[in-house]
Amino acid sequence: MSADVIDGKAFAANIREKVAAEVARMKETAGVTPGLAVVLVGEDPASQVYVRSKGRMTREVGMESFEHRLNDDVSEQELLDLVETLNADPKVHGILVQLPLPGHMDSEKVINTIDPRKDVDGFHIQNAGRLMTGQKSMVPCTPLGCLMLLRDRLGDLAGLEAVVIGRSNIVGKPMAQLLLNERCTVTITHSKTKDLQAHLKRADIVVAAVGRAEMVKGDWLKPGACVIDVGINRLEPEPGKEKGRLVGDVDFASASEVAGAITPVPGGVGPMTIACLLANTVTACCRENGLAEPE
Ligand code: NDP
Repeated sequence: MSADVIDGKAFAANIREKVAAEVARMKETAGVTPGLAVVLVGEDPASQVYVRSKGRMTREVGMESFEHRLNDDVSEQELLDLVETLNADPKVHGILVQLPLPGHMDSEKVINTIDPRKDVDGFHIQNAGRLMTGQKSMVPCTPLGCLMLLRDRLGDLAGLEAVVIGRSNIVGKPMAQLLLNERCTVTITHSKTKDLQAHLKRADIVVAAVGRAEMVKGDWLKPGACVIDVGINRLEPEPGKEKGRLVGDVDFASASEVAGAITPVPGGVGPMTIACLLANTVTACCRENGLAEPE
């Protein structure tokens, strides 16, 4: 193996330490405690795991955590009412509605009801537009975490060729926009892209956000590329095992023979997402209270 393995877990722990120090400073100097409200609708097991770990980590950094669990037969209006209540609550600086929502709800409507200043997921249309036009915004946590890892590894990204695989509103598009803001030359690819491999062959940076287990093979990559694997896919369990292994969208074994650096799954992008959520909540609280934002 030649690639350096990027330790997202350690990087994220470092961010959480900085967030904790910032929270302590805010409590002491301004008497404010950042608060994050997480809303979970239904019983989706993966979402329950995410919400539990978000709550735990929120408390660990000294912030207030407010968890709201609603049954999956709750009406859309009841959810919208809860969001409005949280919008008006001065103890809540960040609101996250865990996706996906049940089929009878309009996710866009729910997300766009969140006060954009409290939209720590960065999915509100105002924040998406602000990011696109280079204005101060809330940046979606997963792409923000990827960008931090890339900057740490590569320094100045200007002029680099970046290929993003996936064009979702929550990962692919904001990721491409962040890379464009860094002045990379950005290509967004998707399921209808012709000859994905030809694009990847010239990419200094690859961000894979597809949701297809181990799709990207080592021989598709430019030697030395920095590969950020966002995908979280569970394989079928091996005989005798209850759960299958978690893997990314990149075939780690072959890619790490060719790439210069690569994030593992798990332990790469995943922990960065929660760390950035906490950092965004601190940012929202600082903005709300007229305090200097952390760097
Ligand atoms: P979506 O399903 O919304 O988007 C997937 C994208 O991949 C689409 O744009 C789709 O193209 C594209 N795609 C599908 N098949 C191919 C293919 N064969 N070649 C090229 N592109 C393809 O997924 P998300 O963006 O929400 O998530 C992507 C992955 O990241 C998932 O595994 C998810 O679990 C993971 N994830 C991880 C997070 C973390 O914290 N680490 C956070 C969020 C997501 P098209 O648009 O044409 O259909």
